[in-house]
Amino acid sequence: MKDFEKNIRKVTPYVPGEQPQSRVVKLNTNENPYPPAPGVCRAMEDLGAHGDMLRLYPDPTSDKLVTALAQYYHVGKDQVFVGVGSDDVLSMCFLTFFNSPKPIFFPDITYSFYKVWADLYRIPYECKPLDENFRIVKEDYYGENGGVIFPNPNAPTSVYEELDFVEDIISHNQDVVVIVDEAYIDFAGKSALSLLEKYDNLIITQTFSKARSMAGMRIGYAIGSPLLIRYLNDAKYSFNSYTMTQASLKCGVEAVKDKEYFEETVNKIVETRKWAVREFSRLGFCFPKPSGNFIFVSHPDYDAKDIFQALRENGIYVRFWDSGRIRQYLRVTIGTREEMETLFAFLERFMRR
Ligand SMILES: *Cc1c(COP(=O)(O)O)cnc(C)c1O
Repeated sequence: MKDFEKNIRKVTPYVPGEQPQSRVVKLNTNENPYPPAPGVCRAMEDLGAHGDMLRLYPDPTSDKLVTALAQYYHVGKDQVFVGVGSDDVLSMCFLTFFNSPKPIFFPDITYSFYKVWADLYRIPYECKPLDENFRIVKEDYYGENGGVIFPNPNAPTSVYEELDFVEDIISHNQDVVVIVDEAYIDFAGKSALSLLEKYDNLIITQTFSKARSMAGMRIGYAIGSPLLIRYLNDAKYSFNSYTMTQASLKCGVEAVKDKEYFEETVNKIVETRKWAVREFSRLGFCFPKPSGNFIFVSHPDYDAKDIFQALRENGIYVRFWDSGRIRQYLRVTIGTREEMETLFAFLERFMRR
């Protein structure tokens, strides 16, 4: 190692799913198969027509987007923080809220970015194993810690926990910040937003990437008590004042406005998921009950890696992790009905051989 390398911050980065540039059936990164709301596409055209907007810095407070979200969720403007995807928001939360010498707690099988941020920011952490049904064991989170984070529904398992379960974990951790990552909540059930009145140590993060079909625009947000949001903004302004582009601000507002379109696409995906659950069962796959726009499947007679590779060679991309307890599982994003039909037709051929 060269001398100058000794003081370099070294990290093992998060590995995102593949983004093939050719046309494939893409069920590997939980994107929404439907386009964003029509207003979003019009806002993009408008931006092109008024290129002058790009000459100026965007509003550093992101006021219009913050206001739209505050109105939509019936919270104060001082309770909303926006960022460049929830990855940016979550990274800011780790930096701002997790500064205890005690370890933060999160599940062993979960969003793999948590570990990466903890390492990057030198935050000690402890992973709490999910039980054999991929459920969070809430008692594991009662011990002393420097903070708690878990997604609900969890990823990549797609398992949702009811609100009283979530509240139980929060109520046992009122001396630290608890983050509930609700990237997939719109496909699932009740959000923890209603718990904000009771717990001012709670932060909820959500994203425009999944249910709102805008992964390419990079918009995420956190909702919490005014005190926590103020600390987050202080950290943000100490890092980069202009995180949100003019385009994200404009398109984000348009997406939030169109509640009807949003509910319609979410319903379509939930319907396709119901049907996909029956198809996977018919083909002999096992999986925990899915609540996100994805399903975590395993087959008793076929190696997950073999299925993954065969699918990939045939232009169908799903996600596979060659590690530990999830080695025999595939995470399959719910695409359109047609995309899923292509998947099941291939699986039937593959399994009949
Ligand atoms: C997709 C995802 C995110 C981040 O999404 P962004 O595109 O950065 O908003 C965060 N948490 C979980 C669990 C996710 O699956």
